[in-house]
Amino acid sequence: MTFNAQAAQALMEITSRPDLTFVKGEGSWLEDHTGKRYLDVIQGWAVNCLGHCPTEMVEAINAQARLLINPSPAFYNQPSIDLANRLVEASVFDRVFFANSGAEANEGAIKLARKWGQKMRAGAYKIITMDHSFHGRTIATMSASGKEGWDKKFPPQVDGFPKADINDIESVRALIDDQTVAVMLEPVQGEGGVIPATQEFMQELRALTTEKGILLIVDEVQTGMGRCGTMFAYQHYNIVPDIMTLGKGIGSGVPLAALLATEAVSVFEHGDQGGTYNGNPLMTAAGVAVFDVLNAPGFMQSVNQRAQELSEGLLALSAKWGMQGERGVGLLRALMLDRDDGNEIVQAARDRAPEGMLLNAPRPNLLRFMPALNITAEEVQTMLQWLDEVITQVRK
Ligand SMILES: *Cc1c(COP(=O)(O)O)cnc(C)c1O
Repeated sequence: MTFNAQAAQALMEITSRPDLTFVKGEGSWLEDHTGKRYLDVIQGWAVNCLGHCPTEMVEAINAQARLLINPSPAFYNQPSIDLANRLVEASVFDRVFFANSGAEANEGAIKLARKWGQKMRAGAYKIITMDHSFHGRTIATMSASGKEGWDKKFPPQVDGFPKADINDIESVRALIDDQTVAVMLEPVQGEGGVIPATQEFMQELRALTTEKGILLIVDEVQTGMGRCGTMFAYQHYNIVPDIMTLGKGIGSGVPLAALLATEAVSVFEHGDQGGTYNGNPLMTAAGVAVFDVLNAPGFMQSVNQRAQELSEGLLALSAKWGMQGERGVGLLRALMLDRDDGNEIVQAARDRAPEGMLLNAPRPNLLRFMPALNITAEEVQTMLQWLDEVITQVRK
């Protein structure tokens, strides 16, 4: 197969893409139009938790497609009930609303918190979010995000998202007023460069929000579904949030996301929330298949084992190359470089022959690793070895 750059111009230009098309994938490997294989450590940006085209999903999607694809969200369907019950049972939440993307789930969380504010807090609507956070690309979720420069992109922003600093409880306390209804944060800031909230901060945050009578919302679009070595990252902190959003790994590559809340906070009335594709059986059947793999005995142990191997390997590379160490939780990790050659490393890894490797540098001095949760021990070692090779080449 050849790559037709002219034909690709029919797609709107939203980012710089390499001149290749990916034609198939299996587990941790992708294949491009020339037949070249790549070890994929991006996995759709921490999305494909089971890697490419896992059998369980392929079978569930095929079986469901033959049965029923979309009866309408105004009717019940069995896969959505099944997945909601699995999520409720695995978490501290009582109710689930399915969405199609992380941003849409977060929009739902914002609406739910504001609705709760109307009912319980005299119309309080402000949601404190964190500097450097990422909550999505709709206008409201961009306003909620603390990504640098985003406040200037599509003004005016949606009002009511004051920014505090992660791991600085006083910066949160200082922003709380009568209009505050919630605090929303990622347990580990993903796009921000893999920055975990500390135990102390999360526990103080829960205590503070409880004391002030406001909600705690965890955006687990990236950290949830086993990415951090537990089904949900909030479970690392021994806290009970009021609202959680899921995306990415929940569908392992198909458009599925979810908004979860405790019973006391599930205050939507008829007409407040909905959406054409929300909770359709095709996607939720895929979600059930994914959940059952993640929830199988021994799966999280192997995620944690791979995480430890990855962490140790990255530390060794850091020591060898005089870098700044590594950080992360579970299989969401970052290698802190000692200089700004992250983009060169990413490119050299992709260009590597005969097999390439897909890496991500969210910042020039940082590489982020978000492999499939079922990556094998050998694949982790291959990745580390190739990374060393590529760094040698870039820095020679
Ligand atoms: C990716 C991401 C989102 C947005 O999800 P989409 O499915 O791209 O809309 C929101 N929050 C966090 C923490 C994310 O990592």
